Amino acid sequence: EIDDSVLGNSETGIVVSRYGQHAIVADANDHIYRCHIRRAIESLVSGDEVVWRRFTAPQGTANESAEQGIIEAVQERRSLLSRPDYYDGLKPVAANVDQILIVSSVLPAFSSQIIDRYLVACEDIDITPVIILNKADLLAELEETTRAEIDTALAMYRAIGYQVITASAKANGGLDAIQELLKGHNSIVVGQSGVGKSSLVNALLPETNTEVREVSDNSGLGQHTTTVATRYPLPQGGYLIDSPGIREFALWHLDPTRVAWCYVDFRPFLGTCKFRDCKHQPEDPGCALQEAVEAGDLHPLRLYNFHKIIESMVANKPSRAQPR
Ligand code: GDP
Ligand code: ZN
Repeated sequence: EIDDSVLGNSETGIVVSRYGQHAIVADANDHIYRCHIRRAIESLVSGDEVVWRRFTAPQGTANESAEQGIIEAVQERRSLLSRPDYYDGLKPVAANVDQILIVSSVLPAFSSQIIDRYLVACEDIDITPVIILNKADLLAELEETTRAEIDTALAMYRAIGYQVITASAKANGGLDAIQELLKGHNSIVVGQSGVGKSSLVNALLPETNTEVREVSDNSGLGQHTTTVATRYPLPQGGYLIDSPGIREFALWHLDPTRVAWCYVDFRPFLGTCKFRDCKHQPEDPGCALQEAVEAGDLHPLRLYNFHKIIESMVANKPSRAQPR
């Protein structure tokens, strides 16, 4: 362990990225430092607020590993995003995120069911989702009916109260609106493979973020930069955590009651079904959700997607008892 005499006063900082027993920490001015993590710290991820101390010993003496500080404590998290791991359950990936950009696109085909899955995951961890329709430049090439379906679904999400932005990473569309939205937040991008997440992240992050990349590379930590969650400052303010690992959620850890509650537009009707233990399935008599759809108070697509999600959860739930 490190001698107290070579350490400065306690400072606060935020974890940019974590590599084994090391992490890159940013101070309040977004200056970054390579830090060692004290063994007593059990969990540390990108976005974690930490207490750390600088090494004060002259270079080349006590600090031969080129470490600039040591992380001594982690502050309580306001939120935590985890990646489902087949064997180990949920693995923490990013802390203190307060906004999730759910990226969908015109190609691969737009799917409200996939968006609903992400929305449920966001509501479960109580982080505000925003829906982005990327590749809007391709809308003109769609059949009229397909375009109308997308319009209907986006209008549905807006009516529920979700923010929806149409964008094109390729044609520079909607990027100002997204930057505006990111201001003052810690955001993360999720979505199916191929919808244009990397393209969007690259379009949003300026070249000025080279400092993070340089420190990662020069310290020998950089070989993982494409897989490790990394928190970048944005030009207009706010931070974007780029995290290839968290881009797809799984919902099998949620039970159907929780999924229903995570459909925010279901909430006014939950608890008013004829039977207390109603599963809100098509065959359930006196289901208040079904009645709300018939009365025009709930969009049928949402209830339909809910049924599909519950169906797929039952079919795909992994057995944790599997041997390694
Ligand atoms: P990711 O897997 O979600 O990170 O998606 P990528 O960013 O790798 O993009 C997948 C493909 O879609 C690439 O060939 C991109 O060039 C293309 N792409 C990304 N954004 C747009 C867009 O706004 N319009 C069009 N037409 N293509 C895009
Ligand atoms: Zn019901």
